[in-house]
Amino acid sequence: MNTTPRARVLTGDTPTGRLHLGHWVGSVEKRVEMQGEYDCYFLLANMHAYTTRFDKTEEIRRDTIEIVKDWLAAGIDPDKATIVLQTEVPAIAELTWYFAMLLTFNDVMGNPTLVHELKTKNLADSYSFGFPMYTVGQCADILAFRPTFVPVGEDQEPHIEMCRKAARKFNQIYCGVSDRTPDDGYAKAGGVFPIPRALIGRVARLPGVGDGTQKMSKSLNNAIYLSDSPKDVQKKINKITTGRQSPTEPGDTGNILFKFVEAFIPDAARTAELKDRYARGDNIGDGHVKQELAAAINDLLEPMRARRAEFEKPGGDDHIIDIIRQGTRRANLVAEETLYMAKQAMKMDFGRRTLG
Ligand code: ATP
Ligand code: MG
Repeated sequence: MNTTPRARVLTGDTPTGRLHLGHWVGSVEKRVEMQGEYDCYFLLANMHAYTTRFDKTEEIRRDTIEIVKDWLAAGIDPDKATIVLQTEVPAIAELTWYFAMLLTFNDVMGNPTLVHELKTKNLADSYSFGFPMYTVGQCADILAFRPTFVPVGEDQEPHIEMCRKAARKFNQIYCGVSDRTPDDGYAKAGGVFPIPRALIGRVARLPGVGDGTQKMSKSLNNAIYLSDSPKDVQKKINKITTGRQSPTEPGDTGNILFKFVEAFIPDAARTAELKDRYARGDNIGDGHVKQELAAAINDLLEPMRARRAEFEKPGGDDHIIDIIRQGTRRANLVAEETLYMAKQAMKMDFGRRTLG
């Protein structure tokens, strides 16, 4: 029997709304692929939802449950992967403090994704102190599970880089690991934290519907949700604008419409044919492409809608809460062990605790 422990995977989503197609191509699809082979932890970052919506308690609770429904609908299997609720894993909050000491103010405030979010989420000067803190919190979310891989969309790369920096620094300062150690050698050299690697999804950054300048995002009102009806999918796809005037105008197959075609029309030969005709302006309108595209997306979403319907029956929410509780219990075993290892390294080992 092979007793080598399986490599761990950690990733997650903030419950600021339902899951959309960007999540699917950026991360969720990979999770479904990896859950059979790796020891997977999928985190509900509900604490982070409070950074921008601290007064929307009812909505955050609802979104937390709805995101799990989306996960299960998308094919995540709670018997294979562990579903984790951030606010019930105290080790994460504690580790956040320690990592906050290891990262500089400029590491956090200069994080390009954070800078971009402050602009695009209309937070101006009124954002909470806790908002930038979420980036440090995310280091703890990840490192609490000492994962090898973190499957995420491209916007998360700066966060993963910060996390890697915090892990290297911790290992160097508290575990005596040399700063010349290659990233894959930290654990062997006695570090508490392996240096995790981002795995960017099949589509690194899916644009939102509209002119395609922003990424598809729950907070930007430009998303096609996994739970949208076939009609809504078509309506939203119709919102894509390319600026092309007529079916006979040679089109740019690098435009936003074709980013969607490449992402969602599964038949490569059909995609090539559409591209060829569009590029030549061979009597093919944007409207036609949008219809084929919406049909392909609906084919992808149909089985998800069917699975989701099961959890929308009476008692569905209780079932979901049960899955969250069971997963979080398993997750706490790992996170508590990590925290104790970290505390030992930091000379804070005044006694090991057990949770509730
Ligand atoms: P919010 O607007 O609240 O930040 P979001 O839509 O950006 O929400 P997150 O919960 O921040 O969603 O992201 C969850 C995961 O999905 C991350 O790995 C992120 O990189 C990935 N992701 C989100 N949007 C996209 C996108 N448009 N394309 C590819 N991946 C994405
Ligand atoms: Mg985001």
